[in-house]
Amino acid sequence: MPEPKPFERLPGNVKPLHYAVTLQPNLVKCVFTGSEDVDIEVKEATKQIKLNSLDLTLRDIKVTLASGEKVLPASTEISTPNEMVTLTFDKALPIGKAKLSMAFNGELNDKMKGLYRSKYTSVNGEERYSAVTQFEATDARRCFPCWDEPALKATFDITLVVPSDRVPLSNMPEISREQHESDTNLQVVKFATSPLMSTYLVAVVVGEYDFVEDTSTDGIKVRVYTPVGKKEQGKFALEVATKVLPYYKDYFNIAYPLPKMDLIAIADFSVGAMENWGLVTYRETCLLVDPDNTSASQRQWIALVVGHELAHQWFGNLVTMEWWTHLWLNEGYATFVEFLCVDHLFPEYDIWTQFVTNTYIRALELDCLKNSHPIEVPVGHPSEVDEIFDDISYSKGASVIRMLHCYLGDKDFRAGMNKYLTRHQYNNTYTEDLWAALKEASNKPVGEVMSSWTKQTGFPMISVTSHQDGDNKVLTLTQQRFLADGSTGDSSQWMVPISISTEKKPSETVKEVLLDCKSTQVVLEGISADTWVKLNPGTVGYYRTQYPPDMLDLLMPAMKSKCLPPLDRLGVLDDLFSMVQAGHTNTVEVLKLLKAFEDETDYTVWSAVHNCVARLNQLISHTDFHPSFAAFVRKLFVKIGQKLGWEAKPGEKTEKRPESLKETERPESLRDRETESLRAAERTKVRERPRDRKSERPRKIRKSEKTESLKRPRAGKSEDRETESLRDRRDLKTKEYTLSEHFDPADGTAYDVVKIEDIAYKHYGDEECNNASIALPGSLALLSSSFVTSAGLASLVCVVGPRPSATPWRSSYDTATEEEVSRNAFVNALPPSKTRDMAANRRVSLMSNSRIPTGDAMAVIDDIVKNYQKEQRRKMRKQRREQRRRRRMELRKIRPPRDCRVTEWSAWSPCSKTCGIGEQTRTRTILKHARRGGKACPVLEETTWCGSAGACPRDYFIWS
Ligand SMILES: [Zn+2]
Repeated sequence: MPEPKPFERLPGNVKPLHYAVTLQPNLVKCVFTGSEDVDIEVKEATKQIKLNSLDLTLRDIKVTLASGEKVLPASTEISTPNEMVTLTFDKALPIGKAKLSMAFNGELNDKMKGLYRSKYTSVNGEERYSAVTQFEATDARRCFPCWDEPALKATFDITLVVPSDRVPLSNMPEISREQHESDTNLQVVKFATSPLMSTYLVAVVVGEYDFVEDTSTDGIKVRVYTPVGKKEQGKFALEVATKVLPYYKDYFNIAYPLPKMDLIAIADFSVGAMENWGLVTYRETCLLVDPDNTSASQRQWIALVVGHELAHQWFGNLVTMEWWTHLWLNEGYATFVEFLCVDHLFPEYDIWTQFVTNTYIRALELDCLKNSHPIEVPVGHPSEVDEIFDDISYSKGASVIRMLHCYLGDKDFRAGMNKYLTRHQYNNTYTEDLWAALKEASNKPVGEVMSSWTKQTGFPMISVTSHQDGDNKVLTLTQQRFLADGSTGDSSQWMVPISISTEKKPSETVKEVLLDCKSTQVVLEGISADTWVKLNPGTVGYYRTQYPPDMLDLLMPAMKSKCLPPLDRLGVLDDLFSMVQAGHTNTVEVLKLLKAFEDETDYTVWSAVHNCVARLNQLISHTDFHPSFAAFVRKLFVKIGQKLGWEAKPGEKTEKRPESLKETERPESLRDRETESLRAAERTKVRERPRDRKSERPRKIRKSEKTESLKRPRAGKSEDRETESLRDRRDLKTKEYTLSEHFDPADGTAYDVVKIEDIAYKHYGDEECNNASIALPGSLALLSSSFVTSAGLASLVCVVGPRPSATPWRSSYDTATEEEVSRNAFVNALPPSKTRDMAANRRVSLMSNSRIPTGDAMAVIDDIVKNYQKEQRRKMRKQRREQRRRRRMELRKIRPPRDCRVTEWSAWSPCSKTCGIGEQTRTRTILKHARRGGKACPVLEETTWCGSAGACPRDYFIWS
């Protein structure tokens, strides 16, 4: 582990009270100038003033004392490593108020932090820049010298000097606009004084934007700023924001403190969104809804992000953490509340179920690693602060707050929150301040319980055993740290709020206990021996449960009959599978449990089933068990496959389906979610990892490098998208075909596995290889066509793909085809015994490339015929090639050979992962094919690794 960098916080001898900051960005030269007058309070006489400043040139520094005397610093020392400037004066500054003034200039950088430039294309196609700020965590100091710590709150008067045709925005509403005294092209725009706030929440934007606006029911003017010409795309976020503000006002019982709320989409943005008070900045994809292209799931995401950032307006902005160590509270809390809010506004999203799969399980999976870290991490130097914006802060933070919410109950939780926000408004807090307020409201030992979760790494596994004592069932609960590698871990212990449900009331908690020691016994009265008992109803507790086989066996019928609610079915499976992975339980147990899901109907539960099956498949795929496992999986998926089919049914909607499928309403339309989302689960399964880059949630990305549009011109983007979608389609096809090996929803019959190893898309563009490639027609028709029909013929189709000249083969069941005729002729020519033998011994040599229903004689014959014909065609092709070769030889006598010529390599595509190890590709295309024996074409696509393994903990899951 690297040594932490030496770090000291600013001394408390001088504090800022009010900043008057003027900024003048030059959007052509990408520089800015500024000046500031800071009202300060000298708390003890000192010769030094230390404040933060980075990458700025300072000048005209002076202090005006209360007496009116002006004092210049004797020396100005700038320390780049400490991001600090130290002003030293000849004599001590007296206690009392004073004003520190200076001018400064800097670069509108391309680092997406501080005051930076964001590139966009104007309506007439001109490349332009806007100036945007991103200050969290410690980059306000790159824009103006300041006491850049969250606890040093002050008020702000912002003035912007901007070109007359640009939109200037800041946290507060504009109060005046005048023409610049010496330059008629410039305007001086002043904004109202802000409330007391931390420097990291200050924001300015100068650029060209359209907006849509509305007023919330509690009278706040809300605007969504979009790129010029795209204001329609801001309407969804506007609708969400105007509803969210009154919801939070009601929930926290405190009004939103500012007079306006702006949400703005920024072209180049490092995080998903940033909660600047009154001016929330978003990555475009986290705010804009394009009715033709934005999927329903992306809308859900946008609703969550808007909900998250607006929650920060209270929790984070009004009440702020004292230091970054307590950042998790900001983020964990906002991540929890965004779900409360979206659940309230869009109950049809069933958002809590998604919380469990996307946030809770994600956190458990990370947190069971030995190198996890506590939620609350002591941090110092700015470089460490950035590292704690990770999944543990966001996802584990939100998960333990959800557990706390359940432990306290909504009423006490809200009362405690209101106490906390009211007591500490415009101020700063430690994590313990929240626990204190919640304890007062609930009378429960919140601090003790929560400290065990926030200060310790990992989480417990609760092992449960039961025995019968007359009419009562007695459970013994034991806790130990759960680790992915199965080791028993350390002596960590947690205070675990445990809820228990039973068969009598499957969705209710019948007993609550606080496990505050290693082991305890719980007596469940009136519960007979044959009644199931389950821990953690609703999968709320942040722990894993280990059941013995007899308790699992009792749960099995309730899983099968779906008496257990979906989140509980999912929880039981996910817990058990994690036990299997850690080696605590035999794999057979999870296979037994999986059988209970044959009649499952819930999409999210199917996602968990798939996750489990896919991982087992990876382990088993090269063992002798695989055929049996494949048969097991086919059987598991047959019923749901039959129910859904592949093609969408009329009127069906899917959360994963693009809006282009005519879903113009906002997603109340997920009515038929159950059915369609199952199909979506299958599609997701089909897509697997290669599509991660698209599905990755942008708000969780914190890139330290430039975003795409900074790297390359926007004009190129649509082409890139085309190439990308083409590439995706290729991936999709290959994957879908692989999937077809596993199960057949059409009839559930056992099939031999198709052996097509040469789906040669990698040779796309190469004439020879393309003609030899085999694929299946039309992307969505793929699955059905790859499954053998009940009539029994594998309808493989050749050369469907990017080349229009390709001619598909036809199924030999098409009427009156050449194949049909040949087949009949062939069959007639065979002696009857031979036919029988072939049917019995299915693996005849000709059938190398197809899948045949077990015991179907006609299919076997068909296959033989088809392969026979293929062989004939192969021979003919060979002959034709030979002829062509001879012709070429003759031509060569007249003209020299020509080598293949290709273009230069394209630029590398963006990395497929924004953290960790990903892939990037580059391509080139053929300019001239080789002729007359010239050199053949080289490789046309190259892939390389990118990113770094160490980047993840910091980069993942940040959206401020
Ligand atoms: Zn946040």
